[in-house]
Amino acid sequence: MDANATTPVLPEVVEAMRPFWTEAFGNASSIHQPGQQARAAVERARESVAGMLGCRAAEVVFTSGGTESDNLALFGILAPGDHLVTSSMEHSAVLHAAHALAGRGIEVTFLPSSPEGVVEVSALESALRPNTKLVSVMLANNETGVIQPIRELADLTHAAGVLFHADAVQAAGKLALDVKALGCDLLSLSGHKMYAPQGVGALFVRRNVRLRPIFFGGNHERGRRAGTENVAGIVGLGKAAELAREWLANGEQQSLAALRDHLEQGIQTQVEEAGVNGAGAARVCNTSNMFFDHVEAEALVIALDLKGLAVSGGSACQSGATEPSHVLTAMGLSPARARASVRFSLNRMTSDDEVDCALALVPDAVARLRRLAPKNQRLAS
Ligand code: PLP
Repeated sequence: MDANATTPVLPEVVEAMRPFWTEAFGNASSIHQPGQQARAAVERARESVAGMLGCRAAEVVFTSGGTESDNLALFGILAPGDHLVTSSMEHSAVLHAAHALAGRGIEVTFLPSSPEGVVEVSALESALRPNTKLVSVMLANNETGVIQPIRELADLTHAAGVLFHADAVQAAGKLALDVKALGCDLLSLSGHKMYAPQGVGALFVRRNVRLRPIFFGGNHERGRRAGTENVAGIVGLGKAAELAREWLANGEQQSLAALRDHLEQGIQTQVEEAGVNGAGAARVCNTSNMFFDHVEAEALVIALDLKGLAVSGGSACQSGATEPSHVLTAMGLSPARARASVRFSLNRMTSDDEVDCALALVPDAVARLRRLAPKNQRLAS
């Protein structure tokens, strides 16, 4: 139950990719037949990703993943003297890029969160300045699953003549994405959060948006991203985009949300002093961030892992860090409650039986850890 860390590659995706490592391998820049086959496969995948986003194929730039897409969006747009507005709940791929930009003469403003985990739209109005060049806010939060009011934020941003970037890494495959309806100028995707492999992603760049490359080399991706294309990975991303559209068109996200709700309700009826972070907000169908007061999330993650249930304490990239989650503290949770919070994230294949299994394991593990927790820690919580 850690699909927000990574998803399995779907069998159909593996099958689509397989020939491009073996009999149909080729460099998509080569002019001979194997090269042309690889090029055709990359361009078909570009159409598929564009189909998922409701954009033109030429507006899709393939990258190595979500981190690169986010970095390309920020570093490709901003220059010294510019101002960036982002939120305090972004993934480190945006947050740390913003800190790096701040060290290079770019001013940065971080928008606050409501207690439900939603970016304060009103704060954007006062944050915009004459030198604001880019606003970057994620579509769905990786820790809580909370969906941000992207359209509203983008409208305000555009009214000020500013570009809008959305990190949609945790929304892709869980929500229908349409870059026009969302009002995005740039939008990041990552393969391994949507049943394609790790190490491939894409950045939507609206036509006429001038993006400076951050890598220098060949003229790949129309000069926007140098480096030999990861043909098999790109084919996998294209196939995953098609499967995501089908899955959403069949209304499957409602069934997954029902399963997630069953998990949350089941835990809450069995465990006292537990609850859902961001429960009051709209959330993607698969994510549940729950607090268990007087329990250290890391200890709970380990206890459940020993029983065969993989969950996460905060985002995977922060596991091992002792700092409480920046997302949960931005929502106003106390450091103790943030440290007592665990993320369950289901994938498309999660079954009723697996949820029942989690419902049998979690209350037990929480009760055991609470019995072991020293009195002073319980008071501090
Ligand atoms: N953005 C968000 C919201 C994420 O959840 C992640 C990964 O967890 C990333 C960006 C980074 O993506 P990648 O792992 O493909 O670099």
